Amino acid sequence: MEGRSTAAMEGTSTDAMEGIRRAAGAYYDHLPDGKKKNAAKAFNAMDKNGDGKISLLEYVDYLKKKKATGFAQQSIFRALDKDDNGSLDFEEAIVLFYLMNSGRDLICKGCEKFLAGAYFSCSQCFFNASVSTYEICCACYGGKKFAHNDGHIFCDNYTLLRQSRSAIQAAPRPRRVIH
Ligand SMILES: [Zn+2]
Ligand SMILES: [Zn+2]
Repeated sequence: MEGRSTAAMEGTSTDAMEGIRRAAGAYYDHLPDGKKKNAAKAFNAMDKNGDGKISLLEYVDYLKKKKATGFAQQSIFRALDKDDNGSLDFEEAIVLFYLMNSGRDLICKGCEKFLAGAYFSCSQCFFNASVSTYEICCACYGGKKFAHNDGHIFCDNYTLLRQSRSAIQAAPRPRRVIH
């Protein structure tokens, strides 16, 4: 592949990552000042040597401390590192804070790569609060490169979102008092 940085893009399309960056920017713009300050504090806490940028080591250390080890992967760091200079500036770190806050499922259970774009999720597991969710990337789903419970049905993330709304609508509501 001509000139494209390799590891960061493995299984992660640049377009999908760009979409996440835009969402993260919008998320940050709408944060109240207190939360913006918290983001700056978190950045400074991550930046142990205070040089204004986050190295991979600082990144992994911070996430281990936060018990967010799912993020502590080099492939995610590389995907966050937009300019591919080996460290994260504040703007790049915002994308991490956004991902951590959104509880976005990050890793394909098939190929274990970062899920940046549309993905498929097992709907039985998704709506069962006592098991963990199970997500796979489009490539693994299409190529059936995963092993999961027989009979479990997969939906893309947009369909799941719509089903969640239908579930809320179908839930019994208190009867309206009619005068
Ligand atoms: Zn995959
Ligand atoms: Zn399942």
